[in-house]
Amino acid sequence: MAIIMLMLVLLNIYPIIVSQNFIFRSKRETLQSRTALFSSTLSGLESMEPEAVTKIMGLLDDRGTSRVIVTDDSFRSIYDNRLEESSVGKTVLLQDIRRAMEGNDLFYAKYSGDSLECIAAAPVMIAGNVVGTVYIQDSDPEQAALLADIQRNLSSISLLVSGGVIVLSLILSNFLTRRIAELLAAIQRVREGEYGYRAEIRGKDEISQIVGEFNLLSDRLAKVESMRRRFVSDASHELKTPLASVKILADSIVQNEDMPSEVIRDFVEDIRQEVNRLTRLSEKLLHITKLDAGEKAEFYPVDLTQTVKRVAHMLEPLAAKDAVRIVLELSLDCYVDGTEEELYQIVFNLMENSVKYNVQGGKVSVFLYEREKEVYMIISDTGLGIPEEDLDRIYERFYRVDKARSREAGGSGLGLSIVKNAVSALRGSIKTESTVGVGTRVTIRFPASTLEGPV
Ligand code: ADP
Repeated sequence: MAIIMLMLVLLNIYPIIVSQNFIFRSKRETLQSRTALFSSTLSGLESMEPEAVTKIMGLLDDRGTSRVIVTDDSFRSIYDNRLEESSVGKTVLLQDIRRAMEGNDLFYAKYSGDSLECIAAAPVMIAGNVVGTVYIQDSDPEQAALLADIQRNLSSISLLVSGGVIVLSLILSNFLTRRIAELLAAIQRVREGEYGYRAEIRGKDEISQIVGEFNLLSDRLAKVESMRRRFVSDASHELKTPLASVKILADSIVQNEDMPSEVIRDFVEDIRQEVNRLTRLSEKLLHITKLDAGEKAEFYPVDLTQTVKRVAHMLEPLAAKDAVRIVLELSLDCYVDGTEEELYQIVFNLMENSVKYNVQGGKVSVFLYEREKEVYMIISDTGLGIPEEDLDRIYERFYRVDKARSREAGGSGLGLSIVKNAVSALRGSIKTESTVGVGTRVTIRFPASTLEGPV
């Protein structure tokens, strides 16, 4: 508004000044050529003799709109086209005539609202001496009216434009504030816990884009909140089952006073296993929380070949139980940037699954090699396989294809979700292919190590 107002003020002043100057210039030309004509004609006389002057002026002066005065060198008027001849001869003590008498040609113009007045004066010289002056005073009401007209038109246009600008600005700012207020209300609702609340999108401008982004944010919050709730409820559920078993076993021992010591031993062994499961579960939960918190340990090159060997060694007793063979085909020196602990978790969870969900006398093969600056790890088994419809979901927290078998094998449904997070933290990718009854094959790609550091 301020800029437009400033423009309007300039628009009001500038054209007036320009047209005023234009009119003044053309007036100066006409009046000065007239004074020049009068004074040069009069200088042809021998002296400023009143009769001769009046005669000549009578011929030259058209008695138009301007007043013409001719004075002699003692400031007495010899000719004045506005006065009766009888009043000629009076002394005219005008400042302008005095200046003309000093030998100056002068011109000036005054414009004030409804009148435009121009004055021109020039000396009359005879034989090199100033013998009198010619003075013209011209007032032009028509030009004055023209200027006044322009001024009036400009003011009314400006008034109209400023009215329009004010109304438009108010409408626009009102419109904007209303939409921002709506967005603000929506933000407050989400802040107070109404996740997933959406504000209405109108149009395609930047505010609508912000509203769109806000809606996505709100949806995401709703999703995260529901994931959090599910996680807490799943986790408590997972904790409840072993705790319930422990309680039942402990209650039976306490309530049954004559229980034989071998049975007590069996029960205590069961309790120990449940406690082990609880310990593993809480370790995994802690690990997940750490990954979620985005705590990042310093990366260094890890020899994945050694990690796979260590895991295979750890899993030997478990594999031996079902006569599962673990076959390793590892290239040497496959280094990946990360931490030993994280990579161990990835390899362990995947290989443990291949052993756990295998068949009697089955096989687990692990291939490791580097190609085009990428380290490939392929873990394939001849196990139960995963049904097609479950393949997308096995990386979700607490998701298990066969709950009974997983629990029996000491699983919690958290292993693969940890693997997935850890792999993406190491900027790797993971792919699972599986056929029920044939086996499963997991391919992981990591960027090969680029860091220097302790090996
Ligand atoms: P769990 O602790 O139950 O093993 P995971 O997250 O490691 O949890 O795995 C999720 C589910 O995916 C398992 O319960 C199992 O049903 C299935 N699964 C994972 N790996 C394999 C595999 N190699 N062969 C067959 N099923 C598998």
